[in-house]
Amino acid sequence: MAIAVQGSGFGKGSKLVRQPADPSQTGHRPGLRAVPPGLHFVSTPIGAARDITLRALDVLAGADVLVAEDTRTLRHLLEIHGVPLAGRPLIAYHDHSGEGLLARLLGMIAEGKSLAYASEAGTPLISDPGFELARAAAAAGVPMTAAPGPCAAICALTLSGLPSDRFFFAGFPPATRAARIAMLSGLAAVQATLIFYESPKRLPALLTDLAATLGARREAVVCRELTKRFEEISRGDLGNLADSFATGGVKGEVVVLVDRAPESAASTESIEAAIASALTTMSVKDAASFVSQTLGVPRKLAYRIALDRMKRQEASHAL
Ligand code: SAM
Repeated sequence: MAIAVQGSGFGKGSKLVRQPADPSQTGHRPGLRAVPPGLHFVSTPIGAARDITLRALDVLAGADVLVAEDTRTLRHLLEIHGVPLAGRPLIAYHDHSGEGLLARLLGMIAEGKSLAYASEAGTPLISDPGFELARAAAAAGVPMTAAPGPCAAICALTLSGLPSDRFFFAGFPPATRAARIAMLSGLAAVQATLIFYESPKRLPALLTDLAATLGARREAVVCRELTKRFEEISRGDLGNLADSFATGGVKGEVVVLVDRAPESAASTESIEAAIASALTTMSVKDAASFVSQTLGVPRKLAYRIALDRMKRQEASHAL
């Protein structure tokens, strides 16, 4: 099957798109709304600068302290939207910044300050820093909320035309081939649309390995430069997409999505392994439902395997 390539045709700027200097055009008045104390995760645009919510701008305008993965990117975004820094601290933070800075940030929240955290682009924590901060804030019991917004994975899923009822976000596959093949093989039977982030340089290798591990006939989609001027969606099966991108030279950012495995692709070994793992935390009934849904195998089959396993375990304990 040939691949179909579709551009957005909206002619947006390839970089961050400036919005008019007059903030009244968006109805946004920076700094007029008080931001409650606590940690505020703020999603930022993945291309078009106007893809920021009014609430995100309110939080960025009103928070006592701004924290960012990349302070230059956040400064630029504030400038585009006419949000003044007004002498507020702008602190660089990522998940490897260390315990000291983490404790300092939590300390500020404990003192009653409001902190806004933004990653380089899109939603913090989604293949971006923020997890350690969220975990520490949750453990400390400090107030925490989010101003949700752009996320490349969700934007790509929306445009892919692939089933959206269940999806599995796999993030960036490993860079080395052996580790990548191992990871992809583990996803072969998953009953959900698979979503991968990848660098344009490694896209040809990923598509080749996907075709080899999941089968060349699986439907897939490559979404490139979402929300930007050269937005492009390429649809086809993995074999065709691998051929089409084989020469490399791809530019910009990409998300790769793959349709779910055909039903019954799961081997008996993988069903038994999934049941064994599920039974460590679930009842026989729940484990059977869970495995039947995730691997797309008949519930009766999963139930029988779970029951047999449980009986064997009980018999061995009785000895
Ligand atoms: N936190 C971001 C989010 O919410 O999507 C993801 C950050 S991750 C470091 C960057 C990866 O996201 C890129 O390598 C690419 O796979 C994907 N990505 C980000 N922006 C994109 C865009 N405009 N078009 C396509 N993919 C994009």
